[in-house]
Amino acid sequence: NLNNSEVIEVSAQYTSQRCPKCGTTKKSNRNHDLHEYHCSNCGYRSNDDRLGAMNIQLLGTQYISGQEQPKLELTTNA
Ligand SMILES: [Zn+2]
Repeated sequence: NLNNSEVIEVSAQYTSQRCPKCGTTKKSNRNHDLHEYHCSNCGYRSNDDRLGAMNIQLLGTQYISGQEQPKLELTTNA
């Protein structure tokens, strides 16, 4: 389905800014120079590329489990 893949694409810009633990999405949580993500809310820390992969996997899981519009929940202002 074309619509579903479009939704995933749009959300992908946030995948490196979202904490997989608490869902906080904050641009400043990502340190581009160190390639590190550090959540200011729960303290979760990870490589930013790995973090993006985790969030993309989450979207894929939602899609497989039947959600018509898989998307990342943005719990704070980006
Ligand atoms: Zn967090």
